[in-house]
Amino acid sequence: MGSPRHLSEKEGFFVDGIVKWGRKNKRGFVWREKNDDFFVVFIAEFLLRKTKSENVDKFLREIFLKKFKTFCDVAREDEGELKELLRPLGLHNQRANALKKISSLLCEREVMPTYEEVLELPQCGRYIANAVECFFYKKRKPIVDHNIQRVFNRFFSLPKAIEIHKADYLWDFAEKLLPDRDFLNYNYYLLDFSALVCKPRKLQCNRCPLAQKCDFRIQKLSLRSEGEPHV
Ligand code: SF4
Repeated sequence: MGSPRHLSEKEGFFVDGIVKWGRKNKRGFVWREKNDDFFVVFIAEFLLRKTKSENVDKFLREIFLKKFKTFCDVAREDEGELKELLRPLGLHNQRANALKKISSLLCEREVMPTYEEVLELPQCGRYIANAVECFFYKKRKPIVDHNIQRVFNRFFSLPKAIEIHKADYLWDFAEKLLPDRDFLNYNYYLLDFSALVCKPRKLQCNRCPLAQKCDFRIQKLSLRSEGEPHV
């Protein structure tokens, strides 16, 4: 996977750095191992909103996927039972309610939902629709969540948006960086990098492969040197 064309030097540096780092540090999750299973990919993306990946992975492997194999299994489950099952992850009332509705809709279908149909499902939106397109359908689609926005903001000084799903400039920028080949792994790497290196707190700038050209890092170093007493 090389850098896509028409990128600035800084953008190319970013993409190459993410790919090199990702090849050594990619995390293993059940929805990545089973990314040819629409049910697993969709349920994971649905639960990943506002919940740590490690917690969702453990929950899916140890509980949810042992009990449910299809949307019809979930549709048949009592909503109260589903709430109890989802309780450890939090947001269980709204999640159980939406999952029941989604599962009933998808259970009756013979074909997989389209991008537009996923967008319209309860509690779904641009991120889930794009993630399903990329990770299940293997289409070249960008993804932007709070973590990825944070990396773009720090490295490129890209402005932050309050409503990410409406901020076309973020999605256009993410798409511009997305390689033509192996974009699926690039998106995984970007998610992993934002969770493990460019974290909200305790960020790992000293070990970051992008530090050399990162706006945030450069600004921090220059403020530090300005604050030093002159000798
Ligand atoms: S140098 Fe620091 S702020 Fe910049 S991308 Fe790396 S971890 Fe994030």
